[in-house]
Amino acid sequence: MADYLNIEWKPDKNSKVPIYKQITEYISGKVSNGDWLIGSRLPSQRKLSEIFEVNRSTIVAAMEELTSYGMLESEYGGGTRIASNTWSLFMSTPPDWNKYIHSGPFKSNMPTIQIINKLEFDEKYIRLGTGELCPDLFPHDLMNKVFKKLPSKIPSLNYLGPLGLPELRRSLTQRLSLQGIDAPDSSIVVTSGSLQGLQLISVCMLKPGSTVFTEAPTYLKSLQVFQSAGMHLNGIPMDKNGMMYWHINKEISQSLLYTIPTHHNPTGIIMSEERRRDLFNFCSGNRLPMIEDDAYGDLWFDKLPPKPIKAMDKNGMILYLGTISKTLAPGLRIGWLVGPESVVYRIGDVKMQVDYGASSVSQWALTEFFDSGYYDDYLIYLRKELKSRRDLALSLLNTHFKDLADWNIPEGGFYIWLRFKNQLFIDKLFQMALENNILLNPGNIYDFSDNNALRLSYAYAQPEDFSKAIKILSEITLRCQKK
Ligand code: PMP
Repeated sequence: MADYLNIEWKPDKNSKVPIYKQITEYISGKVSNGDWLIGSRLPSQRKLSEIFEVNRSTIVAAMEELTSYGMLESEYGGGTRIASNTWSLFMSTPPDWNKYIHSGPFKSNMPTIQIINKLEFDEKYIRLGTGELCPDLFPHDLMNKVFKKLPSKIPSLNYLGPLGLPELRRSLTQRLSLQGIDAPDSSIVVTSGSLQGLQLISVCMLKPGSTVFTEAPTYLKSLQVFQSAGMHLNGIPMDKNGMMYWHINKEISQSLLYTIPTHHNPTGIIMSEERRRDLFNFCSGNRLPMIEDDAYGDLWFDKLPPKPIKAMDKNGMILYLGTISKTLAPGLRIGWLVGPESVVYRIGDVKMQVDYGASSVSQWALTEFFDSGYYDDYLIYLRKELKSRRDLALSLLNTHFKDLADWNIPEGGFYIWLRFKNQLFIDKLFQMALENNILLNPGNIYDFSDNNALRLSYAYAQPEDFSKAIKILSEITLRCQKK
């Protein structure tokens, strides 16, 4: 659990109720209805006076009152916690949610990720690591045209079958064939984002205790999807050609391999054609199933990357994941999983028990986007835009980080993996960046051991903001070096 509370309320300065009293009632209400748990730490008095926009003395008065009721207690070393509350004697007692909410199998996000997930919605921050397109790049006009056509195309918005909208799956079959993937519509299940594909694989296909081999670092490490289902992630090092699979030395039976071969998240690396072939042969030889996550495959700049590994797969060894989140709109929540019919039917069956299908509005909209040709036109524009943002990012790094870090030159996708030359206090860097209104994605959320890196994304921040923030970041970096 993140050690801070979510406060979005402010006292009403026009009310007849004294402000300190409003604050007392707000805090006691949050505790008594179970929103805030016993043991949670309150922000400092200074921070509370900023949040509530009141004088410090008002906060002190409210805290004293709550302390006198036994609802708050001061901690050794400063700070205030919510104490076990005698207050509850005066009110109906809520269940002990604290006991319940940590009883389920799903693990919480890492605290840094919880902070990122919250602050991403505070507009004061420049987001230097966000894996999403800048809202400026969103094709409003095309979306407008697509959504205008939908009412005459959609027969109803009833539930769809377990594999998703047939029209969308037919369209995907055609698109995948252009990449050399033979995927009849019976081999495709539409998911609510590719993350749901991973989630369904974790609950349907693997036993607790099994191992998932991944690149190190990897996007998968920033999630708890497989770990929550009792699996272990095993990070395999990479070189410039991708995962060095020959380092896999653990028991392979009942395991699975997960890879992002094209414009890897977070390193930007493209797995070479030869490595793809060798990895495929290694997995086939060992009967080790593979999940190929191709979230960024369409986002190349100058030349097409090698074909997806799935194009080599004639025996149904690979579960291929695609998504519309990185190229167009994560808010549509549409992804797809391609695999042997037996797997796809099993995933579809469980999906029907989990959410009864991905949004049908989104599926119709995406079908129209694909079939009208708008999507392919838009991709041409998007690649150009992203490339120019990448170029700007590289030139800024050359100006400000030449002596401080090394980095890759991505040939597509969103990410630059910035590796500092000197050891840094990364947590301090994250904090100092926040104080300067910059939100970072520290490399350690993607890695298996401490690293000394950041995931930069040139896709999200506006170019002026990106430039401003990179300069500030270089100054902070100097102040966070370990001596
Ligand atoms: N795979 C990769 C490699 C990603 O980077 C992301 C998004 N960060 C996802 C999957 C999940 O995407 P979605 O669920 O939105 O399709």
